[in-house]
Amino acid sequence: MEHQQSSEEQGTVPERKRLIIASNNAGKLREFKELLSPYGFDVVSMREAGFNEEIVEDGDTFEENAHIKARAVFEATGEPTIADDSGLEIDFLDGAPGVYSARYAGENATDKERCEKVLSEMHGVARELRDARFVCTIYFIYAEDDEYSVRGEVNGYIGDEPQGKNGFGYDPIFMVNDDESMAELDEEEKNRISHRAMAFQKLSEILKEKFS
Ligand code: IMP
Repeated sequence: MEHQQSSEEQGTVPERKRLIIASNNAGKLREFKELLSPYGFDVVSMREAGFNEEIVEDGDTFEENAHIKARAVFEATGEPTIADDSGLEIDFLDGAPGVYSARYAGENATDKERCEKVLSEMHGVARELRDARFVCTIYFIYAEDDEYSVRGEVNGYIGDEPQGKNGFGYDPIFMVNDDESMAELDEEEKNRISHRAMAFQKLSEILKEKFS
């Protein structure tokens, strides 16, 4: 009998296959759904996949934290999993807030308070020493021993005061060029240049190579 090439052998996903995003954040899920759906994946949150445990993100790097999250969900479910981790690195602060970006001013602080803390730490620091970057890492576990990690970055510097109303987090104090903060870009422009966009682009190259 003639050997029929299976869709796995052809490099495509066999039938629509579930892929779990190690997050319950609706915005993240929406973005990942859009990216992954063309490759035959049905994207679900970890809660939808029945995973409700607390994951301790105690890595020293964004890569480690994304790996920890993806591993925890993959080991519990055995299904393809994607996790991401992102934040702001400031050279003058030796890479802080880094992996502590979300809780830099305490667990219950607001975005505004986090921005104020950074601005006070950068008070009086010369422009040449204010370089910073947003980083986004994505960790994809398709199967045991079939794992991928990608990193996207956008470079900028810390402004002297908050500017702009769009975006979230540290966007108002992150200058992407001489007179514009990330919070002054519209959503479309931010999504074109952001660290997340860069990481997505790298992930989609992997998916294209692997599944089409
Ligand atoms: P997480 O990857 O969702 O855990 O995000 C970590 C933290 O990094 C967020 O709470 C924000 O403070 C910061 N962050 C991540 N991405 C952005 C961004 O695009 N703009 C501003 N802040 C961000």
